[in-house]
Amino acid sequence: MNAFFHLDKGHLHVESVPLRDIAERFKTPCYVYSRAALEASLDEFLNELAGVNALVCYAVKANSNIAVLNVFARRGAGFDIVSGGELKRALAAGADPKKIVFSGVGKSTEEMAFALKTGILCFNVESAPELERLNDVAGSLGLKAPISLRVNPNVDAKTHPYISTGLKENKFGVAYEEAFGIYQRAAALPNIEVTGIDCHIGSQLLDPSPFAEALDKLLSLIDQLAANGITLHHIDLGGGLGIRYQDEDEPTVGSYLQPLLQRLAGRPLKIILEPGRRLVGNAGALLTKADFLKPGEVKNFAIVDAAMNDLARPALYDAWHDIVPVVPRDTAPSIWEIVGPICESGDFLGHNRPLAIEPGDLLAIMSAGAYGMAMSSNYNTRPRAAEVMVDGDQAHLVRRRETVEELLALESLLP
Ligand SMILES: *Cc1c(COP(=O)(O)O)cnc(C)c1O
Repeated sequence: MNAFFHLDKGHLHVESVPLRDIAERFKTPCYVYSRAALEASLDEFLNELAGVNALVCYAVKANSNIAVLNVFARRGAGFDIVSGGELKRALAAGADPKKIVFSGVGKSTEEMAFALKTGILCFNVESAPELERLNDVAGSLGLKAPISLRVNPNVDAKTHPYISTGLKENKFGVAYEEAFGIYQRAAALPNIEVTGIDCHIGSQLLDPSPFAEALDKLLSLIDQLAANGITLHHIDLGGGLGIRYQDEDEPTVGSYLQPLLQRLAGRPLKIILEPGRRLVGNAGALLTKADFLKPGEVKNFAIVDAAMNDLARPALYDAWHDIVPVVPRDTAPSIWEIVGPICESGDFLGHNRPLAIEPGDLLAIMSAGAYGMAMSSNYNTRPRAAEVMVDGDQAHLVRRRETVEELLALESLLP
């Protein structure tokens, strides 16, 4: 737990609000975020970057609730988006279009046009054909598209293969060896304005050294381009800084940024960063209720009302999330499998957890602020959970629970 999710008089609180009160008021399952935790994690970046020409563009995909985006926008953050939908969210949250960068390997013509008309800061282009399409779309609108090329520095981020993105075999970005040629092509296109370079090497990185390795490769490319008359104005180092889920040594933002800032000192380059998980992961928890207990000969199952459709990370990556009782009991713990009601054996939230629980007890699945609600689905026709943001002693509903009727309303019978 942390300063924002803490025990007070035997009750788990978010800031000053007992989670039990939130469960009573908003029911379970329910995501709960701490505004102060969101602000504190952004401030870690802003403090390290004080006096530096830099922009933090929060990666919207990690948690795209507009109230979360709004907390960051109010503090001056920009956004890294990967779809037209995320652009609409960012605008609805009060984002400054001039602080939005657009990533993603498959931007559609419509998405490009929308972003061009919005006047975003930069398109992070991921392939040569995307560059051609963007040039055409910009031309048809009489606009010029500011671009950065996502270059694949081919460094090993030493993280889970599903979330490692900077290796040659990944679908993202352009190969380092091909980047120079594509930049030359971009510089020759009439509706393209070459402004920067970007990379994103992976997610949940606990060792900051691959970031510096990637930066060195990008800097040598920047110098090579400059020698050939192509001057870049910004460098975007992506996201990927890891957080503590269990007992990992969480790198400080300083240990990540200082080596990068040292390398960049004296260069007239604006620095853009795209942290996602690091800004929201430990600012959220998934609140759930133990519905049934099924002690067995081999395993004890605690069936809770949250499931893999609410939080996919355990099923998807075998990820660990701490699971803590909201009102801890002082009886002896047993070992539980924490599972959801979905008809899949992979529907678990935690294995072998020593917990003293009774039916009806509330549990908090910790570190669920990133890639939690954002990756949720309606599998098993389960309406998605509510989302609540705590601000001091107030709890605000920032996304109400879906209803089954709303899900059915999108479907129709054959005539
Ligand atoms: C997902 C993603 C991020 C954020 O990654 P985190 O690991 O959550 O920090 C940043 N940039 C790009 C291009 C991404 O795809």
